[in-house]
Amino acid sequence: MMRNIVAGNWKSNKSINESREWMSEMSNLEGSMPKDVRVIVAPPAPYLAALAEVKPSNVILASQTVSATGSGAYTGEFTADMLTSCGVEFALIGHSERRGGYGETDEVVVDKISRCIEAGLGVVLCCGEPLEVRDSGGHEEMIARQLDSAMNNLSDVDPSKFVIAYEPIWAIGTGRTATSEQAGEMHTFIRSWLSDKFSQERANQISILYGGSCKPSNADELFANANVDGGLIGGASLKTEDFSQIIKAASK
Ligand code: PEP
Repeated sequence: MMRNIVAGNWKSNKSINESREWMSEMSNLEGSMPKDVRVIVAPPAPYLAALAEVKPSNVILASQTVSATGSGAYTGEFTADMLTSCGVEFALIGHSERRGGYGETDEVVVDKISRCIEAGLGVVLCCGEPLEVRDSGGHEEMIARQLDSAMNNLSDVDPSKFVIAYEPIWAIGTGRTATSEQAGEMHTFIRSWLSDKFSQERANQISILYGGSCKPSNADELFANANVDGGLIGGASLKTEDFSQIIKAASK
């Protein structure tokens, strides 16, 4: 299984027509894309079923969120099974914008992960520290706490369906990127946490993505770290020109 992944998170952006246009541009670029990078994109949920019909074969669809429950009386929620039935293969879980703004607590993250695993939906588990934690030197401890909590119930994971994204909150949408050194340190820390939790072999199979103002101009440097397996890309995933350059940078 290849570890290199570039995942796009469109957040609440694009119309359905713009989304279709993005897929058609990616289809045109398909032949020039590296074969050793998995490409994932998370469009707004209302477009997912339609985009599954038109996406190029090398693009994997993700949802930006998923319900922590199964089917039933949960107005407005959509379940992991609903997503897989629409051709969606991954869900982002624990994104800082969900943790911060929509009550996605550690407990909710645990529930969402189990729903995904039950449904066979892949997980992109996001973790990251706010600026004050970074400044006071508590970042490793905080990430360990987030991972401990999210994966407490898991004795193993399928590395083709479980991805970790390290996203320092101070770098998301701010234009302020972690330095290559800061990213490298945290990714090495996460790899070793995974090795303690599972095994060195399993840890080596799990993709760890960097997220936070990653763009064509800094992707090479960030991805040069042995433990940075690619990126979770917000703003720079909206244009295929930028996104495809970042995909090329993730080829190792
Ligand atoms: C994100 O939302 O996961 C993200 C990394 O955003 P941006 O690239 O815009 O900082």
